Amino acid sequence: MNVAGSIRSRPAPLSDGKRRGYADGIGGGIASSSIDVDMYTDVPSFELSLDEFEEYALARLKVLRKIEEMKTRNLTPEMFRTQLDASIKANLTVTTANNSNPWESKQSSNSNTNMAEASKKLDVASHFILRAAYCRTEDLRRWFLTQECHLFRHRLESVAQTQTGSITDGGGGKKNNDALRNFLANNDFDLECVSRSEKEKLRDKLLSVPSGVNPMDFHNTEYYRVPFVQALELVAKRECYILGGYAYVPLSRIVSIVAAKFRATLSKSLALAAGVFGQVAHDEQARIGPLLKSMNSQYTGPGAPNAVLGADGQEVLTAATVDALAAQSMPLCMKQLHKGLQRDHKLKHMARLQYGLFLKGAGMSLEEHTLFFHKEFTRIMTSDQFNKEYSYSIRHMHGKEGKRGSYTPYNCMKIILGNPPNSGVEHHGCPYKHYDDANLSALLGQLKIGNASEREAIMAHKRDGNFQLACAKHFEVMHPAAASLEGVNLDGVGNHPNAWFSASVSYHNAKSRNGASMDVVKVEGAV
Ligand code: SF4
Repeated sequence: MNVAGSIRSRPAPLSDGKRRGYADGIGGGIASSSIDVDMYTDVPSFELSLDEFEEYALARLKVLRKIEEMKTRNLTPEMFRTQLDASIKANLTVTTANNSNPWESKQSSNSNTNMAEASKKLDVASHFILRAAYCRTEDLRRWFLTQECHLFRHRLESVAQTQTGSITDGGGGKKNNDALRNFLANNDFDLECVSRSEKEKLRDKLLSVPSGVNPMDFHNTEYYRVPFVQALELVAKRECYILGGYAYVPLSRIVSIVAAKFRATLSKSLALAAGVFGQVAHDEQARIGPLLKSMNSQYTGPGAPNAVLGADGQEVLTAATVDALAAQSMPLCMKQLHKGLQRDHKLKHMARLQYGLFLKGAGMSLEEHTLFFHKEFTRIMTSDQFNKEYSYSIRHMHGKEGKRGSYTPYNCMKIILGNPPNSGVEHHGCPYKHYDDANLSALLGQLKIGNASEREAIMAHKRDGNFQLACAKHFEVMHPAAASLEGVNLDGVGNHPNAWFSASVSYHNAKSRNGASMDVVKVEGAV
């Protein structure tokens, strides 16, 4: 898919009309900028598949939602920076160094330059896709604008702080200093550099600005003169010197001016895009229209489509590996669904939804999902019958049919509060909630989950009606010392089957990295 091609031919819906950057791939705009920040004034024109289109957008959505969540939690600036950097690294950076990075396995053989370009492509494309998706209503525009401005400011501050801190440290700072200056020049910032003689003349005034430049750094600090109306944030905080209607601003404080311009430009572009969204969505009805319309309601929390990776960085869940992974890493509800499918060679509607969405959320592709179900179902029916009666619903689940909606995996609460299964016929539901004590106890013993006292601890939670605690205890028993292993994220275990699965796979990855011998069948008996 051509991001620009599908949208750009309309009257400037996504940009301010300039064409300076991303034509012919990502070369121009990306190579020319050595810093990781962009005004997004140039519409990109590289090709994207429909899958990439959705993946890129969801990756950015995760970062923007993380920003929103952090802003409501009153984090310290340092914690905000650290967590946002981690989110950017996990979702918007192509790297070979991070096994949890969803883009890593696709790019592992590339050079650093290629990976930087791939990251830039991801960043730019995802911004423009979400810009198109979030331009529709006032509320969506305001939300997108707010989060994008935080992200932009964070990136620019990172550059400015590195530059400021390193002036006294030597070489690295000069490089970033140049990068920031080039960025300003490339983006038409009309800032007039104050001459050395004028700066020296105003030395006392400039140094008198509270929390301003360190006197030791004054000689090496560039000051810019800007109309004071462009520096209102600094004026309000008394963080610049004003003379003759101009604000005198050190390079490190240019951030708030640039951020204000970014906000104004993006706000204007969103308003322009809103004016033509209906036409674009209508013209692209068969391809990206439904995706754009549903983007703001796409789920990105635990269990969102996010491939679970093995120790080698490859996606683990395929038709060929699902049996072993069901034994090793699935929570009890999914083990029972898997066992039911193997026994009956079909699943009823509720079970197909619960298990199918779980598999999709854990990263099983549409093709592998179809292959896996086809293999089981065609033991009791013809391939034609499977194709007629079941393959459509699998494609639907993956958003390839009907409304092309985003169907998210069920969390524990939804499963526990849902309709109970008909015993012996249906396999959906949560065993901790829907099995009686005798059946559950027998199942735990059959699966060799822990020793007798550990199983009794699980059963005690079940008898008290604490089904999710019982499930979390199951995890704890089968994954000793998981919290101490690097790369194992226990968030959501006991709240979401996909979080349970993901934590279990990363636990076994960590153990295998540490040299422990793994035997997936021995770990938890046969399903
Ligand atoms: Fe599955 Fe959640 Fe029940 Fe555990 S508590 S078995 S993950 S539904």
